[in-house]
Amino acid sequence: MDLFGQMATYDYGEVHVARDRASDLRAIVAIHDTRLGPALGGCRFLVYDKDEAALVDALRLARGMTYKAALAGIDHGGGKAVLLRPRGHFDRVALFRAFGRFVDDLGGHYITAEDSGTSLEDMEVIRAVTRHVTGVSTQNGGSGDPSPFTALGVRRGIEACVKHRLGRDDLAGLHVAVQGVGHVGHHLCRELHDRGVKLTVADVDPLKAERARRELGAEIAPIERIFDVECDVLAPCALGSALNDATIPRLRCPIVAGAANNQLAEPRHGDSLFQRGILYAPDYAINAGGLINVAEEVKGYDAARATERTLKIYDTLLEICERSARLQLPTYRVADTMVEERLAQRARGV
Ligand code: NAD
Repeated sequence: MDLFGQMATYDYGEVHVARDRASDLRAIVAIHDTRLGPALGGCRFLVYDKDEAALVDALRLARGMTYKAALAGIDHGGGKAVLLRPRGHFDRVALFRAFGRFVDDLGGHYITAEDSGTSLEDMEVIRAVTRHVTGVSTQNGGSGDPSPFTALGVRRGIEACVKHRLGRDDLAGLHVAVQGVGHVGHHLCRELHDRGVKLTVADVDPLKAERARRELGAEIAPIERIFDVECDVLAPCALGSALNDATIPRLRCPIVAGAANNQLAEPRHGDSLFQRGILYAPDYAINAGGLINVAEEVKGYDAARATERTLKIYDTLLEICERSARLQLPTYRVADTMVEERLAQRARGV
């Protein structure tokens, strides 16, 4: 594995690796940037075929966290932990306790949180050995499940895109197609339903799609047809790379705005959307609500403050849309530029 080559590719100075034989912990903590404050980012627990795939995942994701925090105006840098899930039997509590000790050894330079494959319960185990963890339960002074905040921010981002693109101040009567109605997708559907939006949903888990139909009157589309739905907004809320060479030509909507991370399969797909005249809400700008919420926990959790800051995603998205229109540049590039401006300002002590 070309460790330093990968670090250079993703512009890194710092990667930590730990192995605990007793619990079978194999963990990578990637710290991308700490100019704005200690690195904050979730902890993934997935099976990886190769160590290199885990490393690249950590490097890509932590860099994304730097961008997300900077754009959301949070005083944190970007970090991410990737834990390689053992294939055989393992003791989950022992493994997460060992991970907590690893995080503690980093002395607050990296603060962990929930992510794919981890849960509130895992964060509680980590909390028993280190204070550098967020997303613990509300009973223990934590912020709990971040998904409702992520969904709230996505709804605000959709409102900004609708204002800019369709010239409307509300969502009533619009049609939104949602790919993936898991944690965030379902909360988002509820937010939209409450504002009079007509919903079409698709999920590989038929029970989740059915819940959206039953509770929110959503129409269900076959999973492979969601990109063909004629609608006002497509909201990708499933996995990454939803926007690619195969899906972009099929889109029949003026706006793409959803919660999923890494929606563009490659940056050039942001250019393709722009060329097609489709307004794309950069993922790390619109899905920052969950991060805003856990960042509040570091200071001493205040749900009202977290909500207030999440609502500001509207202003960020509107600024991105307006700059994109003025400069005739794709939104993802405008967002990247805004991040670089904020990081440079901070480096100059502004
Ligand atoms: P989740 O696993 O609860 O939900 C994802 C849903 O997508 C599941 O219901 C799954 O069955 C469905 N799905 C998977 N592949 C699909 C496909 N091809 N077509 C249709 N549905 C499919 O995850 P989540 O927490 O809701 O997160 C959703 C996305 O938002 C992820 O990309 C995540 O990284 C991102 N995100 C989540 C948060 C958060 O607060 N949870 C914050 C920021 C970003």
